[in-house]
Amino acid sequence: MAQALARLTVWHINTTAVGGGVADLLEKTVGLHNDSGLRARWLVLTGEAPFFAVTKRLHHRLHGTPDPFGELGPADRDLYEDTTLRQAHAVLDRVAPGDLCVLHDPQTLGLAPHLAAAGLHVVWRCHIGTDTPSEVVRDTWSFLDPYLQAPARCVFSAEGYAPPALTREEGRVVILRPSIDPATRKNRPMTDMAVHQQLRTIGLEAGDRRPARSPAARTARIVQDRPLPADAPLILQVSRWDPLKDMAGVLRAFTDHIAPARPDTHLVLAGPEPSDIPDDPEGAQILGELHRAREPLDARVRGRVHLVTLSLRDAAANADSVNALQRRADVVVQKSLQEGFGLTVTEAMWKSRAIVASAVGGIPHQIRDGFEGTLVPDPHDLSAFGRAVLRLLSDPGLRARIGTAAHRRCTKDFLIYREFLEYCSLYVDVLQQTWATRNA
Ligand code: UDP
Repeated sequence: MAQALARLTVWHINTTAVGGGVADLLEKTVGLHNDSGLRARWLVLTGEAPFFAVTKRLHHRLHGTPDPFGELGPADRDLYEDTTLRQAHAVLDRVAPGDLCVLHDPQTLGLAPHLAAAGLHVVWRCHIGTDTPSEVVRDTWSFLDPYLQAPARCVFSAEGYAPPALTREEGRVVILRPSIDPATRKNRPMTDMAVHQQLRTIGLEAGDRRPARSPAARTARIVQDRPLPADAPLILQVSRWDPLKDMAGVLRAFTDHIAPARPDTHLVLAGPEPSDIPDDPEGAQILGELHRAREPLDARVRGRVHLVTLSLRDAAANADSVNALQRRADVVVQKSLQEGFGLTVTEAMWKSRAIVASAVGGIPHQIRDGFEGTLVPDPHDLSAFGRAVLRLLSDPGLRARIGTAAHRRCTKDFLIYREFLEYCSLYVDVLQQTWATRNA
């Protein structure tokens, strides 16, 4: 495969260098491409706030969320096309004819016609979607339709995510499940001692925290009444501060259904510093709402709720903190209302955690209920979610069994090596199609 691809560069293109699953995935994937003898590069495109406001609407809409701003109109299209045209010029300045570009997510799809017209091989990979398309999803696909004809292949994380018109076209839709890299700082083994040390360093647990001005200590902002006791049972959700991750719902499930039954249990909600993610404009607002929801809680419950904001500027510190938090947790939850795939779930599976997650989007493709974790069918059902968490908290044997099964499944299906080989097959397939078309 490397021989077939030897003469070209593979460019992976998205709109953020940090924050969220796609950036995380690209860093590792592009590294593995190069380590394996391919020439791959990663380009991050910039845009202005109004462009990202439109693309965040596309993101929510493709997950089926009603759009509070109403229809997508000509002004939205102009904004989208002006920015993607400028971005396409920036890409064309860098690439050579015959190179292969993998565009990630709706933010970059608008580049596809320009790049294909310039003689590049173009693949579009969409990491989001829903199995249950509604009017708003269909409407969003209509908006994106003019750009969907250009990519040689459109890649989705799950079978139901592709728009029906594309699915009917023989061979243009490819399903590719995301993955994690077990060798990175975020997933490498950590001793219990290292876990607690990292959590003390960022100030979550009490102890010999490094001086506040040390770089490690400055990578986290923590809102808590007092530190997390080193032996307290812990429930964790780690996610971007996005309404679809429903951190607020996790907090309510904790206060109303978990905390009263388990007065020893703590909750950590952890996510990235909002200002570090340019293409996700909603983070600060969601985080602010969580602060306001936590503040008036009864002191006995509020003392057990910790809000952790991790800076993404120091990638190593962020990875160490996420790794330590996931390993420290007794139950990892992902109570998303919609989820493209859910790499936080994959990461927790790798770490043999007991997981409670909503049965939405990509999550049921990773976890079978009762085997590799517990799935809650209705993501709005806080009481069912609370019951599932309490059941796992009260049964260490069950947690261990589920954690072992989760790790096994992750090893088999969700590691980066499998995904890389599927990428290579995809590239070869795209090149072969071009050769076949030229020789026809
Ligand atoms: N993540 C992180 N720091 C944070 C919060 C999240 O590094 O403070 C990472 C997390 O470990 C995972 C990714 O961001 O690798 C989130 O990917 P996922 O597929 O779960 O969700 P997305 O953000 O892409 O919707």
